[in-house]
Amino acid sequence: MLVNATNMLLKARDGHYAVGQFNINNLEWTKSILLTAQEMNSPVILGVSEGAGKYMTGFKTVAAMVKAMDESLGITVPVALHLDHGTYEGAKACVAAGFTSIMFDGSHYGIDENVAKTTELVALAHDHGLSIEAEVGSIGGEEDGVIGMGEVADPAECAKIASLGIDFLAAGIGNIHGKYPANWKGLDFDALDKIHNATDNIPLVLHGGTGIPDEMIKKAISLGVSKINVNTECQLSFADATRKYIEAGKDLEGKGFDPRKLLAPGAEAIKATVREKIELFGSANKA
Ligand SMILES: [Zn+2]
Repeated sequence: MLVNATNMLLKARDGHYAVGQFNINNLEWTKSILLTAQEMNSPVILGVSEGAGKYMTGFKTVAAMVKAMDESLGITVPVALHLDHGTYEGAKACVAAGFTSIMFDGSHYGIDENVAKTTELVALAHDHGLSIEAEVGSIGGEEDGVIGMGEVADPAECAKIASLGIDFLAAGIGNIHGKYPANWKGLDFDALDKIHNATDNIPLVLHGGTGIPDEMIKKAISLGVSKINVNTECQLSFADATRKYIEAGKDLEGKGFDPRKLLAPGAEAIKATVREKIELFGSANKA
C-alpha cells in the first residue's frame, strides 16, 4: 500500500525501532524488497537516487512500476516511494511523477539557501500529501577515490531546518556512504544526542547504513534514529550471488543464461539482506 513516510516514522520513533530505506535500481530490486517487507509484515521505504531514476528512464517510469507492482503483488504493508538526496529540480519532478516522499539535500548550500529552498519544498510536498526529509551536515563517502570521514552536523542548524515543517531530518554524525574505511572512528553518539535534544523529537535519519556495527545501529535507534538507509549492502550481496552463479558455470548449463535464472540468486540475496536489516531495525510486525 503506497503511503507517505510520515506516520510510519512517527510510529517507529514512538515504538523505538527504525524503518529501513532500501534503494532500488530495477524491477528485481523492487520486487525483492516489497516481497520481503510483506513477508515480515514490516513498513518499508523504497529509495530512489537521482542517478537510479535516470537509469530507470525517469521518475515517472519508477512511480508507474512501483505503483503497479504494489498492486499486482497485493502488498498490504505501508510502502513509501522516496527520492533519495534530491536536488531542488529533482524534488519537484518527483512530486509531479507520483512519489509519496522526497528528500531535499540542500546540505551543500549555505544554511540560508538551504532554509529557503527547504521551506519552499515543504509547502509543495505537503500540498500534494508527500512527506519530506532534509539534510544538515553533508554525509561523506567516496568521491574520486578519496573517502571523506563524514561531517558532524551543528545542532543549532539542525534545529533551524527541523523547525521548517519537514517530517524527518538527516544529520551527519560521522556516518558515510559506501564502505567504511578501516580507520573509521564510529558514529558520534554525543553529537546525535545533542541533535536529538535540539530538534523537538523529530524522527532522525541515518544514512550510510552499510557496515555500521549492529550495536551502533541499536544505540542510534535508542537515541532517536527512526529511518536507516541501506543501499551498498544490497548491491554487494546481489553482486556476490551473481558472481558465484557465473563462476560455478551455471549460466552455461541448460537454459541458465535466461535472465530470469541468471538474476534469481542475486534477487534472493537482496531478500536475505533486507530480512536481516528488518530484524536488526526492529520493524518486523510493525506494519
Ligand atoms: Zn544518503
